[in-house]
Amino acid sequence: MECVFCSKTTLAAEKFYEDENFVAIYNIRPVVKGHCLVLPKRHIENMLEMNENERKSFISFSNKAVFIALKYAGTKDFDFLLQNGENAGQSIKHLHFHILPRKRNDVLAVNKTEFFQSFAKKENTMDTLKKEELNIIIEELNSITEKHKLQIDTL
Ligand SMILES: [Zn+2]
Repeated sequence: MECVFCSKTTLAAEKFYEDENFVAIYNIRPVVKGHCLVLPKRHIENMLEMNENERKSFISFSNKAVFIALKYAGTKDFDFLLQNGENAGQSIKHLHFHILPRKRNDVLAVNKTEFFQSFAKKENTMDTLKKEELNIIIEELNSITEKHKLQIDTL
């Protein structure tokens, strides 16, 4: 079975930002508003497999994706989360980092021990966005990207 994050169909529908090495997509089961993923274009499973180019551009790319997600969500706070490996809760075997914009008393506002269980459970039980809902979100993300292009380029 083809990897869902390598799938052209997935990327066509969910992608809102990219460079040579990485792509940012909107999570189709968003736990919070603005729940996005940063992933390398190459199919690798583990962060330790990132090549030199990917390592060099990772933070800059992630900053740009975070900026867009936070504008969309209307907050300045976020979790940046990697679940690397089965025991860390990695479900899709293509390296991906979660951007979770956070607000006071949001659905993830529990103590740190409960956080990961809560996160994993919610991600697997959230309703999948309808195609029209996703299209609207992607359009809005694209318009934020366009509007803030100069600032994003500096990140
Ligand atoms: Zn893949």
